[in-house]
This record gives sequence, structure tokens and C-alpha cells, in this order.
Amino acid sequence: MSKAESRKRAAQLYKKALVWDDHSGFDPHGGADLKNLEIWRRAGVHYLSVNVGYDVVDWQATVKTLARFRAWLQTHPKKYALVRTTADIRRARKDGKLAIAFDLEGMNSLNGDVNMVSLYYDLGVRQMLFAYNLNNLAGGGCHDGNVGLTPFGRDVIKEMNRVGMVVDCSHTAYRTTMEAMQVSDAPVIFSHSCAKALRDHGRNIADEQIKACAKTGGVVGITGVSLFLGENDTTSETFVNHIAHAADLVGAEHVGISLDYAFDAENVDGLLDAHKAYWPDNEDYGRWPTSYVPPKQLMEITEIMVQRGFRDREILGVLGGNFMRVANEVWK
Ligand SMILES: [Zn+2]
Repeated sequence: MSKAESRKRAAQLYKKALVWDDHSGFDPHGGADLKNLEIWRRAGVHYLSVNVGYDVVDWQATVKTLARFRAWLQTHPKKYALVRTTADIRRARKDGKLAIAFDLEGMNSLNGDVNMVSLYYDLGVRQMLFAYNLNNLAGGGCHDGNVGLTPFGRDVIKEMNRVGMVVDCSHTAYRTTMEAMQVSDAPVIFSHSCAKALRDHGRNIADEQIKACAKTGGVVGITGVSLFLGENDTTSETFVNHIAHAADLVGAEHVGISLDYAFDAENVDGLLDAHKAYWPDNEDYGRWPTSYVPPKQLMEITEIMVQRGFRDREILGVLGGNFMRVANEVWK
């Protein structure tokens, strides 16, 4: 296929696809201006999971962020829709709105109380991961001792299964992820994780983790962070290498997109410096200023997938159909 043909094919597919970005990277507690959500809407993204908290901050900060973000979305209904169901996502797409729900990075946000899961669900949180890089009350973090799931972590999974919140294993220690995927009754995702086989970094995941995730019916979201894709690499070629690696291993129906794009990158780098324990120097944090694959690059990524011979239905799945399938199965 010529370059012009693959470009045309990619444009058609991108228009047809439900485009799902499973995680944003801007600092939810640094006063992030949500007007920037327009970056995603303009790029043709239909659904974005917006991060509202992580283990670095206390749980009260997360509740405050939820209050602020919910109020902002409710007062900007022309372009944005705070969604509860997958039917809401389809409706938002038809109306030209960007659908938004929330995610949590780390179970410190629960303040040790399993009853918080259902409260967060009611506030719009649709996925939550165990531990943000360091161990916590639920399990192990990927840059800490390789510990397993705690009894509290097990209880949280049961409650997440009950209320319909997606169990997420990104940022989490190998042992905890493998145990969590055994315990969960519902599909489990790695919301934003690249392949360790292509870039040996503690935040990236091993082939066994990708296989175990697919076995649950879940999806691995390839993330657009320069440090995890390669050595400071945000090219579309490298991004598609990670997609292709996971697809070759378990099938393209278990691969998705999760750019972790931060419009306030300087802010985020400041955070890294202020909390070295979460982002240790020996994992290359701070070696380069962090950069991210922006949402507008998704078109070029689609084009490269076409060039590499991915089938149409595989591309539509990776662009969003696969994460939508998991949401259809898990959200209540
Ligand atoms: Zn993250």
C-alpha cells in the first residue's frame, strides 16, 4: 500500500473508530485548567479517563479534586459529558462531546476503608490501581519490594467487582499484579503500561503480566510517556512497536491506548523532584525532561498500524473498541 493510500485508509478508520484514551497525565492537584480538555476533543478522542488522585497526596486532596472537576464538567455541558455508563459514552460521541470519567492511581485514596470504593464509583471513578510505585496498604508498588496483595487489597478487589469498578494493575509490583489477576472475577487492565521486553524499565510490564491480563479478558493500554516507550522516545514508530509486541503475544483485542498526556509537563517534572522516593533516580526519572505522545499523534499512529498490516477490526479495537468492551462488561 502506498503512503497516500495508507493515510487515506487511516483517516477513514479513525473517523469510524470510537477513540478511547484510558489515562490523562496532568497534575490533578496543581490547579490544572480543564479548558485543556479541548486538546483531546479537537484530536477526535471520544472518551478520556481523567486522573483525580494518586498515593503521593492524601485522600482529602482527591475528594477536593473530584468536587472541582465534577463541578467544572457540569458547568461545561456543551463540549463535555461526565459519564456513568457506556450508553452515555455513545450518546456523547453522537453529540460531539468528549466523554469523561475518572481514575485513581493507588489505594491510599481509600483511607483504609473498603466502603470508599462505592462512594468513589458514585462520584464517577471507573478504574483504580493498587499502589503508585511504592508499597501501600493494598499491595506492592513497581519501584518497591516485590510484595503480594494484602488482605485489604483482596477485599478491595471483591468490592470493585461488586460495584463495577475496573481493577487496574499499572504502577503495581509484579507479585501483587499476578495475585490480583487471580482474585478478580472481572476483566483486569493495565491502564497505562508499556512492554518491558522493548524497554527494560521498572514501570513497564513483563510478557507474563500481559498474558495473564489477556486471560482475564482485559486490556493493556500502551502509554505515551517518553521514559517508558524508550530512552526519551515519543515517536509513533516506537509507540506502535509496543502495540505490536503485545498484539503478537496475546492478540490485538487485548491492546489499547492510554497516552498519559500532560499539558502541564513542567508541573509534573517539579513533582518528580519533590517526591524522589516515588520516582527514584536509578529508574532514570529526571534524566530527561518528560515528554508525552500528544492526542493529535493518534492519527499518525493509526497510519503506521495500517502500514504494518494490522487488520481494520484490530485497529478499531486498539483505538477504543477493546477498552469499551471491558467497560461494557464491568461497569454497572
Ligand atoms: Zn501513572
